Amino acid sequence: MRVHIDAQASVKAYDIYGLSEIIGPRRTSECAAQDGLHVFENHFYPEIIDPGTGASLPDGEEGELVLTTLSKKAMLMIRYRTRDITRIITEPCICGRTLRRIRRIGFRSDDMIIIRGVNVFPSQVETALLQVEGTLPHYRIILTRERGLDQMAVEVEVTLQCH
Ligand SMILES: [Zn+2]
Repeated sequence: MRVHIDAQASVKAYDIYGLSEIIGPRRTSECAAQDGLHVFENHFYPEIIDPGTGASLPDGEEGELVLTTLSKKAMLMIRYRTRDITRIITEPCICGRTLRRIRRIGFRSDDMIIIRGVNVFPSQVETALLQVEGTLPHYRIILTRERGLDQMAVEVEVTLQCH
């Protein structure tokens, strides 16, 4: 979607991430390097856990993002489970900031669809669609079951080309 926005609006779009439960967006933000989102660690403590067991995972491993607010006063959040899947990037950023970064959120742990035993995330469908020329990042997934078998159909907007 960012590629589409950049091309259509002639602007450079930056990814920000936030939850309405924890002061909304701007808890994390990309810098000019656009290689992950810096977490404002002076206000939020990020952890990654295994979404199935709840066990803490080391930096670099993919799992569910858990946040603890450090400076909020009215409504504290301690180890708040976001359901968003990402990983903490340990390598230093070329921008020079020392705040750790997280990978862009690719999917949520509760978005997963199981189709005939295969785990499918809507973001995987979107990624595949965006590689097809003439498609727009607007789609819907329709799930049905026929004769006991899961069926998945994807409807997508396309650009019209008149000749
Ligand atoms: Zn940076």
